[in-house]
Amino acid sequence: MMKQYHEAKKACDDALLFFRMGDFYELFHDDAKKAAKVLGLTLTSRDKANTVPMAGFPHHQLDSYLAKLIKKGHRVAVCEQVEDPKKAKGLVKREITQLVTPGTILDSDLLDPTQSNYLAAVFPARYLDKKVGDQFGVAWADISTGLFAVTAVSTEGLEGLLQRLNPAEILLPEKVGESLDELLVAFELGARTVRPNWAFGHEACENLLHKQLNVATLDGFAIDGFGPAAVCAAGAVIEYLRETQKSVLEHVDSIRPFHISDYVKIDSATWRSLEINQTLRTGNSDGSLFGVIDRSQTPMGSRLLGQWLTTPLVDIEQVRSRHEAVRELVDNGTLRSQIRECFKGIFDLERLIAKVATGRVSPRDLSGIGQTLGKIPLIKAKLTDRKSKLLNSLEAELDLCAELRAELEQALIEACPPHLRDGNFIRDDYDSRLDELRKLAAGGKQWIANYQQSICDSTGIPSLKVGFTKVFGYYLEVTNTHKDKVPANFIRKQTLKNAERYITPELKEYEEKVLTADEQAATCELEIFDGLREFARSQISRLKTNAAIIATLDTLCGMAQLASEQNYCCPEMVSDSTLNIVAGRHPVLDIMQPLGAFVPNDTNVDEESGFLHLITGPNMAGKSTYIRQVALITLMAQIGSFVPATSAKIGVVDQIFARVGASDELSRGQSTFMVEMTETARILNTATSRSLVILDEIGRGTSTYDGVSLAWAIVEYLHDQIGCRSLFATHYHELTALETDLGGVSNYNVSVREWEEKIVFLHKIVPGSADKSYGIHVARLAGVPSWVNRRAEKILDRLETKNDVDENRKAIKSSGNGSGGIQMTLFEADHPLLERIRTLEPNHLTPIAALEMLQQFKDEI
Ligand code: ADP
Repeated sequence: MMKQYHEAKKACDDALLFFRMGDFYELFHDDAKKAAKVLGLTLTSRDKANTVPMAGFPHHQLDSYLAKLIKKGHRVAVCEQVEDPKKAKGLVKREITQLVTPGTILDSDLLDPTQSNYLAAVFPARYLDKKVGDQFGVAWADISTGLFAVTAVSTEGLEGLLQRLNPAEILLPEKVGESLDELLVAFELGARTVRPNWAFGHEACENLLHKQLNVATLDGFAIDGFGPAAVCAAGAVIEYLRETQKSVLEHVDSIRPFHISDYVKIDSATWRSLEINQTLRTGNSDGSLFGVIDRSQTPMGSRLLGQWLTTPLVDIEQVRSRHEAVRELVDNGTLRSQIRECFKGIFDLERLIAKVATGRVSPRDLSGIGQTLGKIPLIKAKLTDRKSKLLNSLEAELDLCAELRAELEQALIEACPPHLRDGNFIRDDYDSRLDELRKLAAGGKQWIANYQQSICDSTGIPSLKVGFTKVFGYYLEVTNTHKDKVPANFIRKQTLKNAERYITPELKEYEEKVLTADEQAATCELEIFDGLREFARSQISRLKTNAAIIATLDTLCGMAQLASEQNYCCPEMVSDSTLNIVAGRHPVLDIMQPLGAFVPNDTNVDEESGFLHLITGPNMAGKSTYIRQVALITLMAQIGSFVPATSAKIGVVDQIFARVGASDELSRGQSTFMVEMTETARILNTATSRSLVILDEIGRGTSTYDGVSLAWAIVEYLHDQIGCRSLFATHYHELTALETDLGGVSNYNVSVREWEEKIVFLHKIVPGSADKSYGIHVARLAGVPSWVNRRAEKILDRLETKNDVDENRKAIKSSGNGSGGIQMTLFEADHPLLERIRTLEPNHLTPIAALEMLQQFKDEI
């Protein structure tokens, strides 16, 4: 058996091997050690002489143990007994039946229903052609839904793209350059799996794609613009899927070109800062934008909303068409609630289709497809004659799939069992042969019931019972009290503590009839089921269209639901650089805080009020909340959602950059300041005049003067060179002087009231600059001992008189406005001694004179 084990182990590379032995899965050697640690299993060995470490668990716990290992990024091969141990001659045959890896999970029990689960592949174009620069082919698939897409990106774009996709597993070619691997490690993304180079071979990949997508050429998918590296990445994804699934995945039947320029660019730092699908603090979706605004009724709707949030649109017409659909669903509340009511009876069609395609569909799954199709005529009727073009086109594409629906409804009972082996899921009157067999079996059972009664009567044993076990079949059970009344023709089969079990020839005869009929009925059900499954398989592409439409409709209805619950408005989309929001709210705090607690704020970023706003105010006043709110409202508008405001006019943005809060970076072991500057550099190098930039406390990680000067120069650059819409929150009051020098800069501050030596945060953004930093007040609020606060007030007093704030401002202004690149001095002003030191010639001094001079300097300072 160990020989068999080692063969299986060889075939599954570095995956942990679950080796089926009777009712247990066992792991051996290093696998056992690893699994024991992760799963908390006891590490044992067969016996003292044989010290091979092993660990195991009962077979019915497979799913939960698989889930734990996969979550930790392990790959697991499941080796099953593929023949009946009773019938096997010698050793039972075993085979690896599935290889489960983080990116190739199909089993919905192991997946989060509201999240997509991507397997991605990254392939550097320079591996094919050294002359090509830093281009990468990237492809990704979610086999639980059949989504398959491809694109080409630069190194810069790669990080943002992978961050958006958040793949569970990334495939890389073997000879990956150090830098790429490091890059991916730094992104802290999914498990990385290195595949042999042949798996990325261009010709092989192209052929594989032809086969998978059932085409002679890829031209129809319009992906050739992405270059050959993209084909390699896409082929590698399919190769790996086939390898792990051991089956052809029919539902992966088309590939979608993903044009980065169709979507608002959002880099990974922005992604994290805005807490779009996970929060900085916990890393999960509770409290993130997605976690708070999702009102979808089906998992398909939730997953699509997740995708839309990662891909806000830049095409104004597409955005408007979603708004128009949401508006109709907001205005017509009855329509919305009727459609949403229909969704309640709808199953996760996308994932059910995947199960059909891979042959893992259960009776319950198929009946779920039937029930889902049953809702489609209702939804279609509701969507007829709508004002919104988008709703109309969804209606037109919805496919009744009437034949499949009728077949499934007629064949399957309402409450279908989850496993094929449970049987009895085909309705009576569906198949005459099955009815016949069922009648036979039932007749036999009836005979047995009558037989029990007649034996009771003839023997005078009232407690005599007919029972059944799989091993012994039917038997008659007599308790010990009545043992002496047993007739001679009873054949004793088994002795229990209180009773004896017997059989009789007649009983066995009927047992044979019942069991044969039962067995034949079960086989017949399986055949019928196979037919239904094949029928469903032939309808995969029609079902996929329906799944996509239901998902879209659910997402739109969910957005409309949210809009009417939270009193959102439909943003007016324009193509200039306006960003006007009246009474805007932070979408997350608006929902999380008690009703009316959140203070709304206006935003007017435009020609008239300036494109760059400096927001000053003490810590805790609400600066970051405000600037994030503006970015989130813009993002929501561009996915097609209504926004938390009373009105909004938003010029479409091409990129959003947010740099808010550095707490998450600290844990990554990099210096806060370095990270901050790297990201700022990226913003300054890539933002365009159509971008939106929000920056919070830039320059905080260094000394005040360095910080102010950097922040100052950054504001100037954004204003002069880029001219994009920018919100800059800072507690450097020095910067507010920029308003007078630069035409497009306006000062705002978050108002604060002092009351009985305390400060009250009003969270209201008002024009003008803040004049005090209130840091000490905040320290007091936070419970810093009063001695420290009093002492700090004294020190502040002294510093302010000695080093007047206005003097600092002058110093910065006199250093030029950045265009000349003059470096600011770190000292207040030149000490007179410095000039003498500069002009001094050490070579012309005697040692004594030098010593004397040193003494003189010392006396003077
Ligand atoms: P800052 O960036 O100025 O230090 P934050 O934006 O982090 O301040 O806000 C501090 C706290 O104030 C937040 O945790 C939030 O709960 C609250 N807050 C901010 N803005 C508002 C608002 N407009 N209405 C109500 N509460 C707010």
